[in-house]
Amino acid sequence: MPHIVVVGSLNQDLFAYVEHLPRRGETLHARHSARQLGGKGFNQAVGIRRLGVDVDLVGAVGDDAAGETFVRTLDGFGIGRTGLRRLEGSTGLALITVDEGGENTIVLDPGVNHSLTPEMLDDSIAGADAVLVQGELRPETTIRVMDMAKGLKVVNPAPAGLELSPAIARADVVVVNEGEASDLGGTDRLRALGAATVVVTLGQRGSQIDNTVIPAPRVVAVDSTGAGDAFCAALTVALVEGRPIDDSIAWANRAGAAACLRHGSSEALPTRDEVDRLRF
Ligand code: ADP
Repeated sequence: MPHIVVVGSLNQDLFAYVEHLPRRGETLHARHSARQLGGKGFNQAVGIRRLGVDVDLVGAVGDDAAGETFVRTLDGFGIGRTGLRRLEGSTGLALITVDEGGENTIVLDPGVNHSLTPEMLDDSIAGADAVLVQGELRPETTIRVMDMAKGLKVVNPAPAGLELSPAIARADVVVVNEGEASDLGGTDRLRALGAATVVVTLGQRGSQIDNTVIPAPRVVAVDSTGAGDAFCAALTVALVEGRPIDDSIAWANRAGAAACLRHGSSEALPTRDEVDRLRF
């Protein structure tokens, strides 16, 4: 049974659904609000666990109530947390407003996600069959993970930033959406940095490797928030299970599409059964 380690962020997401985005100085009444556990690290770890694979999450939460909630929730999912640090300070927080047209604004306080230093990383990274990282930690921490990892290395440089170039250079697989690909200077640039394989996700059109587009199943999408995280989780799982790259991308497309069928991010991540049963 393969074992995957995700090294990444944990954020508490606070959503306020409003008629219009607030103007400077304006106090608005929300139509409703919601609180969710998120962060790309947390979401991708949950995505892998839902696919039935052993996974550990390495990251940091604060010594506050949100940190406590994360610890309980990870235990509930059966996600390993020996590499999760509880640090003095606040757990990451995202304040998200969403208007009636679906436009949003996000204020992100990384909190202790940015206190996780390379020295705090543990041995589980070296022992993993695959390691999956994103761009929400301090770049030097993510880069150190890539040096410690001995198995498959998957990098999802989101949000995009060239300070992650050394991590991209050490990656077996890089996953970016179209916006991130262009922010990072295009796929040729990513390959020139040293990324062995670059996969670009194209929303409902599926995803692309080299010049080949691999289509996603058609679904009636209600909320595409968790799609990218579901895709990264499923691609890593399929590759570590030994499936060929094209086949792995096709399966990750199915997971991304399945994540669009439910609202929310971590709540929307599909189980293996849901991915396999999705009709094309
Ligand atoms: P991100 O959420 O990071 O911007 P994408 O929107 O490209 O990423 O979505 C990731 C993957 O999820 C896509 O490659 C595709 O496989 C799947 N996906 C996303 N939106 C849809 C959709 N509306 N219908 C079907 N599949 C989708």
